[in-house]
Amino acid sequence: MKLIIVTGGVISSLGKGIAATSLGLLLKHRGLKVTIQKLDPYINVDPGTMSPFQHGEVFVTDDGAETDLDLGHYERFLDTNLTRKHSVSTGQIYKAVIERERRGGYLGKTVQVIPHITDEIKSRILELGEVDDPPDVVIAEIGGTTGDIESQPFLEAMRQLRLEMGSENCLFIHLTLVPYIRAAKELKTKPTQHSVKTLREIGIQPDVLLCRTEVPLNRDIRQKLALFCNVREEAVIEARDVESIYQVPIQFHKERLDDIVVKQFALDVPEPDIAEWQGLLKRMNEAENEVAIAVCGKYVHLRDAYKSIIEAFTHAGIHNDVKVNIEWVDAEDIENRGADRYLKDVSGILVPGGFGERGIQGKLDAVRYARENGIPFLGICLGLQSAVIEFAQNVCEIPDAASSEFNVKCKNPVIDLMKDQTHDGDKGGTMRLGAYPCRIKPGTLAENVYGCEKVDERHRHRWEVNNKYRPLFEERGLTISGTSPDDRLVEIIEVADHPYFIAVQFHPELKSRPNRPHPLFKGLVKAAKMLSTGSAVEARPAINT
Ligand code: GLN
Repeated sequence: MKLIIVTGGVISSLGKGIAATSLGLLLKHRGLKVTIQKLDPYINVDPGTMSPFQHGEVFVTDDGAETDLDLGHYERFLDTNLTRKHSVSTGQIYKAVIERERRGGYLGKTVQVIPHITDEIKSRILELGEVDDPPDVVIAEIGGTTGDIESQPFLEAMRQLRLEMGSENCLFIHLTLVPYIRAAKELKTKPTQHSVKTLREIGIQPDVLLCRTEVPLNRDIRQKLALFCNVREEAVIEARDVESIYQVPIQFHKERLDDIVVKQFALDVPEPDIAEWQGLLKRMNEAENEVAIAVCGKYVHLRDAYKSIIEAFTHAGIHNDVKVNIEWVDAEDIENRGADRYLKDVSGILVPGGFGERGIQGKLDAVRYARENGIPFLGICLGLQSAVIEFAQNVCEIPDAASSEFNVKCKNPVIDLMKDQTHDGDKGGTMRLGAYPCRIKPGTLAENVYGCEKVDERHRHRWEVNNKYRPLFEERGLTISGTSPDDRLVEIIEVADHPYFIAVQFHPELKSRPNRPHPLFKGLVKAAKMLSTGSAVEARPAINT
C-alpha cells in the first residue's frame, strides 16, 4: 500500500479536501485503486453533535457515520461510497485508547500520547489496507493547520509512518498559501517558508508543495520556494484560484502532480483518462440557459451548511444543460415579509433539512407558495415534514397540526416520534442514520423520476410522519409514494395536480455525483427549466429522468 499524506499550512479553508480528492481522481483514472480518509483533530467523536454554524454540513455515509463535509467531496470526485472508517477524529482515538486502558489492554503500562495515541492513529490509516480488495493508494488528509496544538499527535504519527514505510511508499504533500500583495505587485513566499519550517521541526519534510495563489507562480518564485523549503522545483505545484472546484483535477494534471506521485512510488501506470470529467466540465461551461431556484432554510448565510445541495444542483444543471442560480432565502425573512416578495421570480423551490423551530413558519409559507402556484418543489427531511404540516393545516383543515419536535404538547402531531423511539440519553449518533431501503409506489411521480421501484437513500433525522393521519392525507390528495418496505415509515410524499411537488424524508443530495446526478434534483431542475421556458403545464408526464 502506498500512502499520501496531505497537510495544510498558513491558513485554513485553502481547499485541502478538494486538493486531496483531485489527486485521488487523477490516480484513479490512471488505473489505480484509491481510497481516502479524513483525520480531524477536534475532540468531538464526530461532527454530528456540532451546530451547522460551527461545522457546516454533516455528511452521512451509507453505514450511518456522521462525518466531515470533505467526505462528500471525496465521494463525488472518486465516485465511491465511503464508510465510518474513512472519518477519524481525536475523540474517536482517545475513546478507543481509554476504553482499551479500562479493559486492561495496556498490561500495566503508563498510557501516553507517544506511542499509544500515535499507534491508534496509525492503525486507523493502515486498517484501510487490510481488506479483501486492498487499495493501491491511500490518501490521508490531516485536518487543521500546521502549528495547531491539537494536530501535533497526528503529525507525529505521520512522521513515524514515513519512517516505517520509506519515501518510496509514503509521500507528503503540503498545501499552502502564496499571497499576492497587490500594492507591491509581488507574491510572498515567507508564510510558506514558515509553515514548512514548522513541519520540519517535527521531522516532516514535504515532498510536494501545493501553492494556492491568485496569480501564476513565475520561475523565480518556484525556485525560491524550492530552495527555502527543500523541495524539488518541479514539485512546487501552482494551485491557482479557479471558478469551479471541478477544474482542480485538470489544473493539477497540467502541473504534472500525478506524475510526480507515480514516479516517487515507481508505479508503472498509464496517463490518466479524464475525458469523461472534461466532458462534464465542457457541458457545464457551455450551458446557455439559467434557472433560479430558491433554497429556503435557516442556515442560508453559511453556505457550507448546504454543501451537498449546492453540488447536487451543479450536477443536475450539467445534465439539463442549464446553469442553476441558487437564491438563498432566509425562512425567517419569508415569515416576516411574506413569501411572494422572495419567491415570485423563481422557477423552483427547495426546503432543505434542519433542526429546531426557528424559521419553521417561513418554511410552511414557502411550501404553500410552491403548492398553490404550481412551482416545482422538492422538500428534504425537515422539508418533507414542513410539507406534511402545511398540507395538514391548509388542505386537511387541521390548523394546529405540527411536529412534536417543536411543540411537545401539540394535539395533532402529524410529525411525531414513533412509539418505540426513546428520546432520552446520548445525543451523538442516535438519530435514524445511514442508508435505508425505500419501496416506491408504481404510477407515481417518484417512480417516474427514479425509473425503478426500490431505492436506497441516506437518512439523518429523529421524527417521522405520524401514521395515524395517513388515511386522511391520502383522502385529501397527498400521495404517499415511498415507504419503508414494511410500510411503517413514510419516505416520499407528493401532490398530484402539480407539475412537480415531491418531498422526501431522506437526503438525496448526499448521493448525487457529477456523472450521476440525483434523479430528484435532475427532475426538479428539469421541471424548473420547463416552467422558465413556458412549457410547464404538461411537464409532469415528461419529467422522466
Ligand atoms: N429535525 C428533524 C428530525 O430530526 C429533521 C432533521 C433533518 O432535516 N435532517 O426529524
